[in-house]
Amino acid sequence: MCSHLKLLMMLFGANCDHLIQVSAIYFLVKERVAVFQLVTKEQVAHLVWSIFIDARTCFSTTHDQMGNPPVSRLEWLVGAMRGGALPPTMGTPLLSMFGNARDGPRNPLLGAGTQNGSRSESGGPPCTNSQVNAKIAEATGEARRCSSLVNFRTVSVAAAPPKPQLGSLALSRGGCFDYLFFGKCSAARCTYKHDGHVNEARVDNVISKMRPALAQFVSANA
Ligand SMILES: [Zn+2]
Repeated sequence: MCSHLKLLMMLFGANCDHLIQVSAIYFLVKERVAVFQLVTKEQVAHLVWSIFIDARTCFSTTHDQMGNPPVSRLEWLVGAMRGGALPPTMGTPLLSMFGNARDGPRNPLLGAGTQNGSRSESGGPPCTNSQVNAKIAEATGEARRCSSLVNFRTVSVAAAPPKPQLGSLALSRGGCFDYLFFGKCSAARCTYKHDGHVNEARVDNVISKMRPALAQFVSANA
């Protein structure tokens, strides 16, 4: 919230109405720690969501005909908070903010382990591809059997120059190479696609580029 305030101050100056209301909320939370320290994560979500909606409305509204800037609609929330209360609901998309485990005590935004069986952001089990292309599975079989740590990086380390270049090994648009080629991706925050789709026309070419490196990986781990 503090960074949001700094950004608003920098972009719009101290007269921005949205900024004035958000600072009011910020100072209310700070001053009344005793009142607001017991708020639930849902209430925090409502608060953040209201500020977000207000910012969106405020900054997508043009100045009126008299040249007055748009006004914030957060006054009601500030009023409610002065009274020591946070509204219980206000159309906040809790489900998309917290995932589907709303009753759990842990906050999934903090990423401390998995809560609902999905892959953890902070290094859970590897993401495995159950439908690796048959030709690829055949080509990587030996390397996968000799080390569970097989992935592009470890193979590349074992390879003699010229090492395979990831840029020339695309199996699909935006697809994760480790997931598609080695059948699993252990990267904690992999941003590539894990949908298993490969462009069949590229498979032979990619395998032939990887073959020498795979052989060297196998002999290094034998
Ligand atoms: Zn990946």
